[in-house]
Amino acid sequence: MQIQHAYLNDLMERVIQRNPAEPEFHQAVREVLSSLVPVVEARPEFITEGVMDCLVEPERIIKFRVPWEDDQGRVHVNRGFRVQFNSAIGPYKGGLRFHPSVYEGIIKFLGFEQIFKNSLTGLPIGGGKGGADFDPKGKSDSEVMRFCQSFMTELCKYIGPDTDVPAGDIGVGSREIGYLFGQCKRLRNEFTGVLTGKGLSYGGSLARTEATGYGLCYFADSMLKDAGRSFEGATVVISGSGNVAIYACEKATAFGAKVVAMSDSGGYIYDKNGIDLPLVKQLKEVERKRIREYTLTHPQAEYHEGCQDIWQIPCDIALPCATQNELDLNSARALIQNGCFAVAEGANMPCTPEAVEAFQAAKVLFAPAKAANAGGVATSALEMSQNSMRFYWTFEEVDEHLKEIMTNLYHNASSAAAQYGRPGDLVAGANIAGFLKVGDSMLAYGLV
Ligand code: NDP
Repeated sequence: MQIQHAYLNDLMERVIQRNPAEPEFHQAVREVLSSLVPVVEARPEFITEGVMDCLVEPERIIKFRVPWEDDQGRVHVNRGFRVQFNSAIGPYKGGLRFHPSVYEGIIKFLGFEQIFKNSLTGLPIGGGKGGADFDPKGKSDSEVMRFCQSFMTELCKYIGPDTDVPAGDIGVGSREIGYLFGQCKRLRNEFTGVLTGKGLSYGGSLARTEATGYGLCYFADSMLKDAGRSFEGATVVISGSGNVAIYACEKATAFGAKVVAMSDSGGYIYDKNGIDLPLVKQLKEVERKRIREYTLTHPQAEYHEGCQDIWQIPCDIALPCATQNELDLNSARALIQNGCFAVAEGANMPCTPEAVEAFQAAKVLFAPAKAANAGGVATSALEMSQNSMRFYWTFEEVDEHLKEIMTNLYHNASSAAAQYGRPGDLVAGANIAGFLKVGDSMLAYGLV
């Protein structure tokens, strides 16, 4: 797919040449550059002053060895990454992902997306991301602890409350954040807000756990209302059963929807009576079990091996909340055929470009991840504020801020789309609104 602008198209070619074999990064850059065509046409200084060229090159990439010992005393060596992509509007901020699929290209794509997402929140945070090709699944707590301590022994040299503030992502939840924070505190001999997503007893924010899933539903709610629709009485399918999926399910249900399906990387459950969320929480958050065990308690529910077919289930609203490129063109066609009227991305880049195009062509309301799942990082920034103030807000106060941020974010993305000739196109709107603040700051600094 060509970008309809000679300079940006050439820049895209250079990105591909300089970052070979990183298709997820190419995909993310291509989407943003395509959206920015009307912006650089109106303001060519973003090209002449070098902003566009700098935008696609990370400020810094840190790549390191992570040796650790398993419970049998065997040594393993994983690879750790931190991509400090852009600090034009604040310290780098973005999660850490522990998953066997992690390599430099995945972290770059996530870090690049994070620049615009963080800008969209309206809060002063730059974009970064990190992780390792380590799989916490099936490891004992002691093994996870040893891995996290080894990972942080290197990472702690590069982060700090005013420099770079990592958080969780796939495979990095409260257990991992605890081990990481403990090691960082020990090595630096200081107690500062160097990570977010912390436990409540040591500097975490109320509502951070719920924030991405709740925020997704607040964003979707604004989008639905604008189109004269709502969650009330709607049937919803959610992929994943991790942090984002669980709290999206909780809030969508609170808004009057019926969630009928959820998944993990093994398969999906379909419960026509509506998902029993306390059971899913028990299985996934407490016991770390597989989603198929749901049917032991609810034999009327169906379990299907493999995740792809979850999108064949008829629904009004789809919330992909598992991982990148999990919803392809075939799945999009099935959703459209079954009358789905809204899709909001909880995971990062879960819909392939062909799927997004199909939704937009069919006038399905579409909320892109970098806007719709920004509630997590927004609340992380609120955690940073509370840590700096050495003060805590109540759950209700944080939730109120989150709701306001997500509602504003929707309206900003929607008006940017309209202003640049793409009314209703939230993909373009989010990219443009997210870029402008970052681009203007980069212009102000000159070449740095
Ligand atoms: P979790 O690790 O808590 O959950 C991930 C879920 O997705 C699990 O159910 C997992 O299944 C499933 N999954 C992972 N990989 C695959 C795969 N290849 N195919 C199918 N299913 C898969 O992660 P989160 O909920 O935190 O993150 C989910 C998504 O949301 C990611 O894209 C993340 O980047 C994004 N996100 C998360 C934020 C947060 O605050 N947590 C903030 C913004 C975005 P299994 O248990 O079998 O591994």
